[in-house]
Amino acid sequence: MVKETKFYDVLGVSPSASDSEMKKAYRKAALKYHPDKNPSPEAAEKFKEISHAYEILSDDQKREIYDSYGEEGLSGQGGPGGMGAEDIFSQFFGGGFGGMGGGPQRPSRGKDIKHSISCTLEELYKGRTAKLALNKTILCKTCNGLGGKEGKIKKCSGCNGSGMKFVTRQMGPMIQRFQTVCDQCQGTGDICDPKDRCTACKGKKTQAERKILQVHIDPGMKDGQRVVFSGEGDQEPGITPGDVVFVVDEKQHDKYTRKGNDLYYEAEVDLLTALAGGEIAFKHVSGDYIKIDIIPGDVISPGLVKVVENQGMPVYRQGGRGNLFIKFNIKFPAKNFTSEENLKTLESVLPARTKVSIPKGAEVDDVEIVDVDPYKHSNNRRDTYDSDEEEGGQGGAGVQCASQ
Ligand SMILES: [Zn+2]
Ligand SMILES: [Zn+2]
Repeated sequence: MVKETKFYDVLGVSPSASDSEMKKAYRKAALKYHPDKNPSPEAAEKFKEISHAYEILSDDQKREIYDSYGEEGLSGQGGPGGMGAEDIFSQFFGGGFGGMGGGPQRPSRGKDIKHSISCTLEELYKGRTAKLALNKTILCKTCNGLGGKEGKIKKCSGCNGSGMKFVTRQMGPMIQRFQTVCDQCQGTGDICDPKDRCTACKGKKTQAERKILQVHIDPGMKDGQRVVFSGEGDQEPGITPGDVVFVVDEKQHDKYTRKGNDLYYEAEVDLLTALAGGEIAFKHVSGDYIKIDIIPGDVISPGLVKVVENQGMPVYRQGGRGNLFIKFNIKFPAKNFTSEENLKTLESVLPARTKVSIPKGAEVDDVEIVDVDPYKHSNNRRDTYDSDEEEGGQGGAGVQCASQ
């Protein structure tokens, strides 16, 4: 159940709508109310509303918050204060209506930069802070991204400031139209006297910066979960920087398996403990040891699964923990572990043997069992050598094994 449906209503979809349904609804509504198509002030307001609703609902994390806490829940977020309606529109339609007239438009929002951050189960249990160095592009600090002295720079008229322009060229009977770097400004998008150019960036408007980001991995985070640094992507003049997104990559554990907030562990118990009780202990991902008393006579059979409540993974941002499931493997004693006499004693202790039951009159093959030989007894070999054995009567798959 969602807390409120306002944003869904604005887009005209149900709260269970899929991403693609939402996209469709947004596309339809945005085209109808876009100021270029519908100049009334009501339409402009409506356009903003649908863009805002789409911005929230198309972002999985924001949608989750909205569903649980409503619009109020979103205001507490330190995220971007909302993209402009036109930004969303052009992100969606790539350029929007404005692109028809002048030069080609640049995207208004930079790319998100994704990094995966590898975490062990132990780290996801306790949480950790990772310091990561990020090499990014920022606006030139000397000229604030202008490329030269303030007031001395004019927008290039050849490309309308985009740095790129369309050129048409006749190729035989065809007229081709393609995008190229503007020759008047060499792609900078502006015109400036060389003496007014910024010497720090040589008119490039940007510089490289190395930045340390502290990524907080909270207890209970899961594989695929994202930690977002809003607007930390590369900066470019006239563009809203994208986000830097860290995606949790949970390393496989050699002892534990995780399913949601639950942990699964396979514990080995010796036969005596399994039957007559005792203790087992093993290390938990928390670093603590889990000690379990096996009660005499409880009988832990092979493959039995038991659960230790609240010893699973922490539940992300909610407190409490999942459960720890333990599957028992029984370690049987080795061959000839005791005297014949002792085995006789076992007979008096363990439940009686299961009687064989063979219907009267059935034919009985009294057979022998041998150890499994992976070569001799593999499926493939039998298929391959069946015919050989019949023909040559070799029966000697084993002999061939030795030479391989
Ligand atoms: Zn500069
Ligand atoms: Zn130009």
